[in-house]
Amino acid sequence: MRLDDVQGFVFDVDGTLVHRGPDGRGRPLPGAVEILDAIRASGRRFVLFTNGSHVPAWELARGLREDGLPLNDDEVITPVESALTYLRRHHEGEPVMLFATPATRERMAAAGVTLTDDEDAAVVLVTHVDGTIDLAQMERAARAVTRGAPLLTGSYVAGYMGANGLIFSRGAMVTAGIAKVAEVRPKVVGKPSRVAVEEMRTYFGLPATKLAVIGDDVALDIRLGRMGGSKTVLVRTGTTGDIDLETVPEGQRPDLFVHGVDDLLNLL
Ligand SMILES: [Mg+2]
Repeated sequence: MRLDDVQGFVFDVDGTLVHRGPDGRGRPLPGAVEILDAIRASGRRFVLFTNGSHVPAWELARGLREDGLPLNDDEVITPVESALTYLRRHHEGEPVMLFATPATRERMAAAGVTLTDDEDAAVVLVTHVDGTIDLAQMERAARAVTRGAPLLTGSYVAGYMGANGLIFSRGAMVTAGIAKVAEVRPKVVGKPSRVAVEEMRTYFGLPATKLAVIGDDVALDIRLGRMGGSKTVLVRTGTTGDIDLETVPEGQRPDLFVHGVDDLLNLL
């Protein structure tokens, strides 16, 4: 398989382009810098899509640039950005109850989202949460959801891989608590979801079939790519690196399985 007919590249970050150390800094994996440079040199575009939602996308971009990746501020997408696009399209001007970090709350407010802590919220959105969770607020969220407010979440997988194993997703914990008592299924706005596919399409102004999604996680990245009909590439450098693809149902397998992004350099 070659990637020369691909017009836009969507990369996962952790386990695909960088490994993070205990200090939280990313160390670029072999070929990570070169592949981004090569795509740019070929006149095509790329974006990094991470499910991290603790800080605004431009801040993640700045951190990764300091770590050595050749990135511009607008070349990172997070669930906060895809949620914003979704809210603009489907709930413009409606009050949103947000469970998020202060930085994400600021980003949402600056983007014009009306935030509320009352149970008259029209939408409940959970992204990464830190610090103390107010159970009374979770109850108000559950009441809003019971009355019909959609429950959106940035990510609904158990967690992500850190240097010392799985780090549980606090956002998923809060989402699950509200979903359980309100008896609904949350709608994911990060990877993998229809909302995320729409965000990629909007970013590039291209059909998803013209894109390639490259990542280390079958359940997140490959699923995202397959949902929109993009080409999918699984790398071995992260979460599902030692996976036996024979155990993955055929409909969930990547188009291409390589050791790392450096193997893509001669396929561009
Ligand atoms: Mg990853």
